[in-house]
Amino acid sequence: MYIKIHRGARQIGGCSAEIACGANRVFIDIGSDLPGAETADEPPRIEGLTTGDTKNSALFFTHYHGDHIGRFGEVAEGVDVYMGRTAKAMLLNIARYTDREMLPRYAAIKTFEARDKIHVGGIVVTPLMIDHSAFDAYMFVVEARGKRVLHTGDFRTHGFRGDKTFEMLRRYARDIDYVICEGTMLSRPGEKVLGENELKKRAAELTLEKKYIFVLCSSVNIDRIAAFYQAKPAGRLFICDKYQKEQLETVSLRHAAKSALYDFRYALSYGPNLDERMEKDGFRMLVRRNEWSRRHLEKYFSEPYRKNSILIYSMWRGYLEGSAANRELIEFLKPYDPETLHTSGHATAEDIAELYRAVNPKEGLIPIHTEAPEEFKTLIPDGNIILLRDGETLAI
Ligand SMILES: [Zn+2]
Ligand SMILES: [Zn+2]
Repeated sequence: MYIKIHRGARQIGGCSAEIACGANRVFIDIGSDLPGAETADEPPRIEGLTTGDTKNSALFFTHYHGDHIGRFGEVAEGVDVYMGRTAKAMLLNIARYTDREMLPRYAAIKTFEARDKIHVGGIVVTPLMIDHSAFDAYMFVVEARGKRVLHTGDFRTHGFRGDKTFEMLRRYARDIDYVICEGTMLSRPGEKVLGENELKKRAAELTLEKKYIFVLCSSVNIDRIAAFYQAKPAGRLFICDKYQKEQLETVSLRHAAKSALYDFRYALSYGPNLDERMEKDGFRMLVRRNEWSRRHLEKYFSEPYRKNSILIYSMWRGYLEGSAANRELIEFLKPYDPETLHTSGHATAEDIAELYRAVNPKEGLIPIHTEAPEEFKTLIPDGNIILLRDGETLAI
């Protein structure tokens, strides 16, 4: 058996890992590099996945973010691909608007529910649902020949559902030999980490202070949308566009019965018939960087509405400054002087140390999805941290 980090050993994004046993190969994620990364345009060449003999291979997606799924188009036809059921439905919604040629490939993805057992030859993969800024995201326990590997994907404990993380791991991730763990935040130590509940409270305060509230956040960060959706004085409308409404309906359909947090029944897709009510009663509106949103922003950032309007920027600061900065986004936001209200989708340093203690891997931890793999050694001084290079094989 072996573990191989194909990509992502020293970068956030572009992730792809492999756990193999005999002829069978389980791959986890194949993502795009983050904007600004040196290798951003190089197509990945991964033996057993994009090239060579792929008949005993399977690919599992932890979640639908581009840095985990963005290079799916490179995967050889015929490889079995798996992801969460709701995540797949959301991915299909995305593709219908942005990437229609990928629709047949996305449609062929097989789905799982939390704690299903999926067999790939002699390898068994068990998905464990976790909290992240993507909905329906998973860790995986991969086991074969008595060895057990936990791949964390992207996770956090400060989201609405994050407090159950360690309890779940103690229950379902026992006897783990190796952990492959994300370390995004280890190179972003200054980033403020607010609980999603705290953020929701602040969102409620802002909706009391202002009447016309615009929110710019990811259309697939469902927990963040829920934070703003829930923060409503009675009668205040919640407006989005057709695509966002489809995403919210997809989530509501499957999850509203289990949690009121995901019941978005009063979210309205904008139509001119709403204009009068919007002006009179006020609203919260999801916006994106497009002309449709600009039209609404321009109206409400002009007189006489201006003093009652606010734009909240609820995404990573890195899109506004530094190497991943997005010029068009910065220009788009400028006239409206947005207020930032955001929290990370990733595990804090404390989370990672706690995960190590909870899982207590017999052999050690392999960093992935990080620009600072050495920091794991400082963080967990008495742990065994195994630093691999991209493409290096660790026999287990
Ligand atoms: Zn992610
Ligand atoms: Zn990621």
